[in-house]
Amino acid sequence: MARRKKIYEGKAKILYEGPEPGTIVQYFKDDATAFNAEKRDVIEGKGVLNNRLSEFFMTGLNQIGVPTHFVKRLNMREQLVKACEIIPLEIIVRNYAAGSLSKRLGIEEGVQLPRPLVEYCYKDDDLGDPLVAEEHIAAFGWASQQDMDDIVSLALRVNDFMSGVMLAVGIRLVDFKIEIGRIYDGDFMRLVVADEISPDSCRLWDIETGEKLDKDVFRRDLGNLTDAYTEVARRLGVMPKTSTPITKPTLIN
Ligand code: UDP
Repeated sequence: MARRKKIYEGKAKILYEGPEPGTIVQYFKDDATAFNAEKRDVIEGKGVLNNRLSEFFMTGLNQIGVPTHFVKRLNMREQLVKACEIIPLEIIVRNYAAGSLSKRLGIEEGVQLPRPLVEYCYKDDDLGDPLVAEEHIAAFGWASQQDMDDIVSLALRVNDFMSGVMLAVGIRLVDFKIEIGRIYDGDFMRLVVADEISPDSCRLWDIETGEKLDKDVFRRDLGNLTDAYTEVARRLGVMPKTSTPITKPTLIN
């Protein structure tokens, strides 16, 4: 059997050449990293959960007319996506202060922002993904003004969708990060939501208790990350009840 071609390996995912031109297989690893990969661990079952959760969010977005790269889930850890050219920006949308915004501006975590804030970081691990302004994006040609208008409107639509879906299951969407890709079709180019949407790239707090159900559990050593992600999946009805356990069962004598 021929080995399939690996296109790229990142911190949490591997991309393989897809079965047809213009497609890619996205494989979700169990690796967790934080603080620009200074902290790392393998969290058994995380990749399976993120594959399912990203499928759930991307499918919902496709259904409401927000274009994404997602085609279909292939198995426990893999999904088929459309190949796209990733714009080298992390698009962050914030509804409540947390993380780097709280540090930068001295706003207590959890304070509701007057309106959703959209921020951009330049994707470069060596530089630690620095915050950039639209001026930098335009000057260095990472995206055009038209792209930026489209990106903001996509990001705000994703925010409304995700906030509503989460609110319905008692979870507050504090903030999240998305990546946007370009797909070329003849003379046309369109922008799609790419990469993944999962608790690795969102802050999710239980509305009642404030319990964190996202990657901050790992970043801040707050408990078991798989339990937190499983709780998100359970509330959303994402993991089928009859599925095999995602972690190895413990043998009880
Ligand atoms: N985020 C991400 N990848 C990154 C940086 C941030 O997915 O490389 C997400 C993060 O999980 C959070 C949001 O973007 O939901 C805002 O992150 P923030 O800028 O507060 O950075 P952090 O405090 O995580 O360093």
